[in-house]
Amino acid sequence: MAYPKIPAQQQDRLPGRETEMHPQAEFIRDSYKGSGKLAGKVALISGGDSGIGRAAAVHFAREGADVAIMYLDEHEDAENAKRMVEAEGQLCLLLPGDIRDSRHCNDAVEQTVKTFGRLDVLVNNAGRQEVQTRLEDITDEQWEKTFATNIHGYFYLTRAALPHLKAGASIINTTSINSFIGNPILVDYTSTKGAIDGFTRALSQQLIERDIRVNQIAPGPIWTPLQPPSLGKHDPELLEDFGSQMPMGRCGQPSELGPAYVYLASEDSSYVSGQTIHINGGKVVNG
Ligand code: NAD
Ligand code: MG
Repeated sequence: MAYPKIPAQQQDRLPGRETEMHPQAEFIRDSYKGSGKLAGKVALISGGDSGIGRAAAVHFAREGADVAIMYLDEHEDAENAKRMVEAEGQLCLLLPGDIRDSRHCNDAVEQTVKTFGRLDVLVNNAGRQEVQTRLEDITDEQWEKTFATNIHGYFYLTRAALPHLKAGASIINTTSINSFIGNPILVDYTSTKGAIDGFTRALSQQLIERDIRVNQIAPGPIWTPLQPPSLGKHDPELLEDFGSQMPMGRCGQPSELGPAYVYLASEDSSYVSGQTIHINGGKVVNG
């Protein structure tokens, strides 16, 4: 793909809609060849309807996995994601609902296991972000919503999934470059991503004895519906040439993250746990 320049834009609803993005994102490269790395496996992906989660879903399907997708209420995006998984010859189960509710997380895991008979890979990826330039302007409601979505949801879903995960299973959390470099206009969001970093590291150490690996991916600016209702709503011009501040001078496409989720989900990463893969256009952040 020739990486397109991004024009100024915004959206009004949270979560954002993939259908309203211009240009449309790329989720998997035509040249990506599956080789059965996840054949017979089942993955559950929160926020799998759009963006990075959809890229993970489609890559997993191309590698032979069936996929359950959790999302809030973006039904059209979810149907499109399902079609893309099915086009790879795999099954897809859609699970709408609010990840902030632990009962919904329990139900989603139960439905996944009931439908597919097993669970091998959990991707904690649902998230929200809202811009405030001054800490004093973050309301209790915003602070609590962001934490409830971005970290409580990861905990509820992982707790529900663990009884079904067997030796060799993989948990992958989506964190962010922001917890490594700090983002002055996303303090609540950045704080939740720091919590995810700690969650990944602590849990990875706890689960080593069960032979379950826990890793995380830290994306830089990626062209997904996270951005138009947050950065774009704050100032549509912030999305003009989105990502141009990165060393590579552009934002990433979801298709550039999917292969890393495959790596962490599959046996290829059998000696890797508690680690972070940074996919951010060349910014060295360490950690
Ligand atoms: P996205 O909007 O496509 O995905 C986020 C998903 O979270 C949504 O599809 C939505 O269904 C889900 N979600 C939000 N609130 C929810 C709720 N209350 N209940 C259930 N589901 C809910 O955007 P994305 O960029 O693909 O985001 C995926 C992950 O990547 C997030 O954790 C985000 O923080 C992280 N991330 C994104 C970027 C970026 O530049 N796009 C950078 C760093 C990290
Ligand atoms: Mg979505």
